[in-house]
Amino acid sequence: MDLQKGIPSDKETTHEDVVKSLNTCCLCGTSLEFTHVTHADVHRVQEAAKCPSCGIQTKVNTFILQ
Ligand SMILES: [Zn+2]
Repeated sequence: MDLQKGIPSDKETTHEDVVKSLNTCCLCGTSLEFTHVTHADVHRVQEAAKCPSCGIQTKVNTFILQ
């Protein structure tokens, strides 16, 4: 799979695009610190992002592992 930079497609949003858009604080632009908690027993990963500057935490995303 080729790397695509700069031009997000209209319909397909990759995980990479989502991460990139969520990678900075919406308030101050500081790079967020991500925390991943894996729940192997239920095949899920919880992702939380926190701004080290503001101290805010974005909503937790849950990914279901296959
Ligand atoms: Zn911030």
